[in-house]
Parts: sequence; C-alpha cells; structure tokens
Amino acid sequence: MKAITLVSYPTATDFDSLDTLKHIKYLKAPPFSILVVTSLFRRLGVEVNLFNTDNEYLRHLDSGKDAKTFCEDFAGLLAESAVSVAGFSSICNSYYVTLAIARELKRKRPEIRVLLGGTHATATAMHTMERCSYIDFILAGEIEDSLESFSRCYDASPEDVPGLYWRDSRKTIRVNTFGPPPNLEDMPLPAYDLCDDYNLDSFMVEAGRGCPFHCRFCSTSHFFGRAYRLRPFDTILDEASVLNTKFGFPRIALLHDNLFHSHRKLLSFCRKWKNDSRTEGLSWNCSLRADSISPEIAEELSNSGCESVFIGVETGSQRVQQVIEKRLKIDKVRQVIDSLHKYGVRTTVAFMIGFPEERREEVRLTLDFYYEMLCRRLASPQIDMLSPVNGSNYYEEYKEELYYDELTSAMAHQGDMLSSISAHYDDMVRASPELFAAHYALPLKFVEREFVFECTCFLRYAAYNMRWLLVMAVHAVGDLYDVVELFLEYRKSTTSSLKGMLYYSNYDFLEDFLAFAACLPQLQVFRQECLDQYRFMLDAYSLSDEEFTALKEMSSVQDVNRSCTLTLDDRLFASCLTKFTRYSFSEVVDSFDKGDPVENIAPMQSAIILRADSEHVFIEGVSVMTAAIVMAFEEGEVIANALEMLAEKHADLLPGSVANVRQGFLFAIQQLVATGYLRPD
Ligand code: SF4
Repeated sequence: MKAITLVSYPTATDFDSLDTLKHIKYLKAPPFSILVVTSLFRRLGVEVNLFNTDNEYLRHLDSGKDAKTFCEDFAGLLAESAVSVAGFSSICNSYYVTLAIARELKRKRPEIRVLLGGTHATATAMHTMERCSYIDFILAGEIEDSLESFSRCYDASPEDVPGLYWRDSRKTIRVNTFGPPPNLEDMPLPAYDLCDDYNLDSFMVEAGRGCPFHCRFCSTSHFFGRAYRLRPFDTILDEASVLNTKFGFPRIALLHDNLFHSHRKLLSFCRKWKNDSRTEGLSWNCSLRADSISPEIAEELSNSGCESVFIGVETGSQRVQQVIEKRLKIDKVRQVIDSLHKYGVRTTVAFMIGFPEERREEVRLTLDFYYEMLCRRLASPQIDMLSPVNGSNYYEEYKEELYYDELTSAMAHQGDMLSSISAHYDDMVRASPELFAAHYALPLKFVEREFVFECTCFLRYAAYNMRWLLVMAVHAVGDLYDVVELFLEYRKSTTSSLKGMLYYSNYDFLEDFLAFAACLPQLQVFRQECLDQYRFMLDAYSLSDEEFTALKEMSSVQDVNRSCTLTLDDRLFASCLTKFTRYSFSEVVDSFDKGDPVENIAPMQSAIILRADSEHVFIEGVSVMTAAIVMAFEEGEVIANALEMLAEKHADLLPGSVANVRQGFLFAIQQLVATGYLRPD
C-alpha cells in the first residue's frame, strides 16, 4: 500500500448552532488519535490523505447545504479523492454517521477497500462485520504493531495481520489472533504538524494506556486491557516540549484514562515536570482518580504547573460507589477536591445518574454533591445519564434488556450529530443495539428514566448559561433535586414545542428558566437587579449581527466577544474586578433599541466588571446585586487583592480609583448579609 485516505470520527453536534460550532476551535483540528495513526503510516512510507469529518461538516453547513445531505456529499468528496484504501476511525457516539459515510463511499466506489479502526469498531467488530457488508476490514485493538503487516499484505495474505477481522474467498468472517500490547516507547511523534494552523490553547501528549480498575460503566479495559502502561517520563516531556517550542501550544493535556494510581510516581512526575528545562513553566492538565491524590500531591501538582484535573466521581452515594465498582470514598473525594482548590488547581468533576440499581435518594445525594461543586469557583461540575456503551460490563450484563426510547444520554449526544438527519438512519440504530448500545436505554428499577434524562439536560444547560441563577434557585428552594422537580412541573405550563436536548440547548429554555426563577417567591428580592440582568443578556443574544455591531459602536464597551455572549457566568468567574458606576450598560442597550441618543441616559446605580486576559481588559456591565454576588462567590477579598495589582498594571485603561474595589466588595458582603444569603458567622 502506497497511500491511504484517513477519515476521522465526527464529534460535532447540531444542538449547537452553526455560529457556535464555528467558534469551537477543536472541531477544526483533527482528533489526536488520527494524528497518531497518520504518524504511524508515515513512518511506514505510506502517504496519508487526511479528512477531518467535523471540519467537512462545518463547511457543508456553511455553504448553505442541508445537514441531511452531508453523509452522501462527503462520501462523494471521498470517492473523488480516495485512493484504493479508506480508513475510518470510530467512537460510540457517532458510529452510525461513520458507517453511513462508509456505506455511501462503497456504493460510489465499490473497488475501494474500507477499513475501520478505533475503540468502537473494536468493541463491536464481529457484529459490524456481520451487518455491514461494505466494511472490508476491521483492525481491532491497539494497531501500532499490526499496521506494518496490514499495509504490506492486506489483500494478499490478510491472515498475517494481527487483530484483523476480514472475509475469506467464501465470505466467511475470519478473526486473526491479537499480538501483545505495543511498546509505547517506540512511537513516532504524532502528526502535530496537521493541527498547527488552528490557534489552539492546548494539545495532547499521550502519557500511557490502560487502567487496572474495572468500573462497570467504563469500556477502557475492554480496549486497552487492564495492563496499566506509562510512557517514560522523558518521552512525555520531549513531546510536550516539541508541542510548546515548535508548535507554540501554551499548555499540554496529558492523555491517559487514569494517569497515575501510584502516589510515588505521581509525585516524582510532578517534580520532574517542574524542574526539567524542557517543561519548566509549562502548564498541563490531566485526568486522575480521586484516590490517587493526597494533600501533598495537590500542592506538588500546583507547583509543577498543573492547572486542572478531571475527576470522575460518578455518584455521591457510597452504596452506589460499591455497586458500580468505582469504589471511591466520598468523604475522601471531598477532601481531595478541597486540597486541589486550596492550591489553585481547577477541577472538572464528573457525575452520572441513571444506574439500574440507583434509588431516588441516591440520585439526590449525587445532585447535592453536584451542587456543592457548582458553588465552587474552581470547580466545573458535569453530569450525564449513564449510557450502556459497548465494551462496558453494564452492556454485557444488560444487553438482552436494552430498549430504544429516543432518550439518548448526553454521553452519546454526539451520536445525534446531524440530528436532523438521524431519522434518515434511525432504522440502522433501531435494528442493531449490538452496534449502537450507547443510544439505548437500561432498565431502571427505582427512578423514572424520563426524570434522569430531563434532569441531566436541564443541569447541563442551566449550569452552562445561568450558573448563578441556578445557585440562587437552590438557595431559595433548599435542594437541587427539588429545583429540578419544580422546574419540570413548571415546564408543563410553557409553550415551547421543542423537546429533549434540542429544547434545553435552545433560547426557549433560557426564557423559561428565567421566568421560573422569577416565580420563586424567595427570589423576589433579586428580581429587579439580578434577574433583569439575565434578561438583558438574553436580549443581547437575540440581537441581529447588524444590531450588535451598531451597539458595539454606540456603547462604551471596549470589546464584546459575541461568541460567548451567553456564558455570562463563566466570564464572571474569570479574573474580574468590580467597580460601581452611575450608568447602566443595559440602559445603554435600551437606549439603542429605542433609538434615543446615548447622552440622554439617566444615571442609575450599576456596576461594571473588568475582565482581563494577558493582552486586553474587557468591560462588562452588570447590576449592583449581580456584582455583589459575584464578588462574594469569587472569594472576594483574595481576588480583589490580586486584581488591584492587575488594575495598577492596566491603570491607564481603568476609569476611577482602584480603591473602589475594596468598597465594592464590602458593599456586596453587606448586601448579601442583609438579604440573608450570607450569615455573619
Ligand atoms: S472509569 Fe476510570 S478508573 Fe474506572 S475503569 Fe474507567 S478509566 Fe479506570
């Protein structure tokens, strides 16, 4: 084989608008795994013709074409440029899109040999070969050591290729024996040159593979085996250094499902990263089990430049921890997260609900933990509905009981990429739970599946777009579980015809949630101040591009990034400095809407938040009460002190006196104490 066409798995989702998708830089760069495969082929002297499916999808939509025609059009493009072999990578979320493209390609160019690889093709290899006659080969498992024999003899003597699924001359499916796990020390540098043009903030270095645990919901062990492997520290540091110095990535994401389970190794890695000239001062992040972190390690992580850690907590119930075989100690997890935050390390804390054995009160415990994280400045909580992914123990145990009910887990929501055409391929998914288990339902014994689904959708979008409004709603009602139930009840009286994830990702949901919060009697005190501010943000979101441009020109705002208009909460969480002012930014907007001259705006008490990145200071207007809440939850005084330094640095850009920061903070605390949201003790 002299050349191959490689096609990456899709990850884009059309729950986000095209405008939003276009701003997700990572969609434009090829996925890391395809860069690894590209480099392996290049080392063998095979020319690679790489197609990034997400990018092609964006181009397709951007040219005004219907999503429904994407698979066929993209297959046409591949047919024109594909050489004799086309290789597709795969993940569970979007497997039907991958198969639909491959099927179209084979229909257009029957002589092309279609090869599948990756985690999901491996987990479903035999079923895929049985059902998809257009797939010629599946190269299962880790392919480092089988690519050479495949590229040499895939047609002449496929029986020599380790881990290959293929058909013999009688169309019988044959499966070759797998080889031993590859030597991770002997891997070429991934084809980083192919993601050089996308101005990404960080990129990945593979730190190793395999996990010694076997949590029931996880398929990692199925693909990589339970043999835990770590690449040599020097190799990891070399690649990180190349990414930083040659390609300009300012931070490194270390890729490993469970980077360290030995305290000793983790400590020595942190020290090596910190003291080695290749990585000194270079930021990094990773995924760790909570029980691999101690307070000492948290400090070392911070000292070494580790900015954030992904921690899968899964459930707030100790009993369910045992049932799902994750076996974390909940109290210890809380201490670990405290330690990380104490040393300034951010956390992404992931939860799941919808386990078959989970009781209602155990869901409540998970939501309580989720809410604790929602109130932490340095935590980003996530929650999903359990999905019985192929290759997991849950799939194996329940595969005879899975059913299809269209309530697809957000863990598989990328599978609804092109959801407007998913009906087109619905038959494919409905006919084969063996191939598309991630889209199927597990039977739940104690909790309604609809509640689990709506709850995770609600939290995903409420927390993303209106995090502090959600926090305030829980303050008012007393419990996140109850807020969800109350909102779902309220939802019955609303008018949006959208359903499921499409509803929650839409403006309709934000409108409804705002109206719901405004109805909570306990939140009346905030109505004029805080709720109106959210109203302003929603109104700003619905402005046309022309109106928005005109607004920017008319208002005193120095810069507004339209692409993140709705992430007010995230921006309020960023380093910020609050000042009080006599003019309201929202008044400026109203004035613009009415066509009044800006100079006619009446003075009123308001606040501005100054947000700084390394190059610019941005101004955002908020109400006094919102500012007060932000300051309080920002651990105000510490932040204010740090930002006074920043303010001095940018003194020429800032209006008024820096001393106002402290006054503003004290005012905010007084307001919160007066309204009962903070207690003096
Ligand atoms: S969830 Fe994490 S710890 Fe559990 S098996 Fe998967 S990778 Fe390992």
